[in-house]
Amino acid sequence: MSRPKPNILVTGTPGVGKTTFCEALAAASSLEHLEVSKMVREKRLYREWDDELDCSIFDEEMVQDALEPLLESGGCVVDFHSSSFLDESLVDLVVVLRVDTSTLYDRLEKRHYPESKVKQNVEAEIFQSCLDEAREVFEEADIQIWEMPHDTEEHMEEALERVLGFVRSFG
Ligand code: ADP
Ligand code: MN
Ligand code: MN
Repeated sequence: MSRPKPNILVTGTPGVGKTTFCEALAAASSLEHLEVSKMVREKRLYREWDDELDCSIFDEEMVQDALEPLLESGGCVVDFHSSSFLDESLVDLVVVLRVDTSTLYDRLEKRHYPESKVKQNVEAEIFQSCLDEAREVFEEADIQIWEMPHDTEEHMEEALERVLGFVRSFG
């Protein structure tokens, strides 16, 4: 499929720095940042509520319907922790941000997440759940998956430079 500008999926466990990275990427390029968790909240793209974690459970079909028309024309940075429901033909590059357990623990504590939610996310990072989820869909479709560390400012600069290179050479 040909798009004038690429769609880039930026995924990873909550707290790895997806939104921080995507904001910087959008500011340094002509790509549009789609913060999916915010769309889920604002457009109420959920039908269920997780009582234990006190958060919504996004509805895959509702999120697909909201995202697909935006991705058709290209030039989007999709910022979300989940990716297996996305249509691989709409994605040109997958970036999986990774951090050390201690980094993630500190960031989520600062966010005042309840202990159970901190623990669940730290475990998800240890088990590389987001990476595996992305591989499930995009590996077979031969879409590049870049796993990149994101503990420090320097890591972010490196990742930005690499992704901007991809954007420049796209098409
Ligand atoms: P996510 O969108 O993946 O949940 P955020 O972008 O909200 O993560 O970042 C979580 C916290 O980590 C924020 O306080 C942010 O300032 C910090 N952070 C993000 N990326 C980095 C980085 N590369 N180096 C240091 N701190 C970072
Ligand atoms: Mn975020
Ligand atoms: Mn767009």
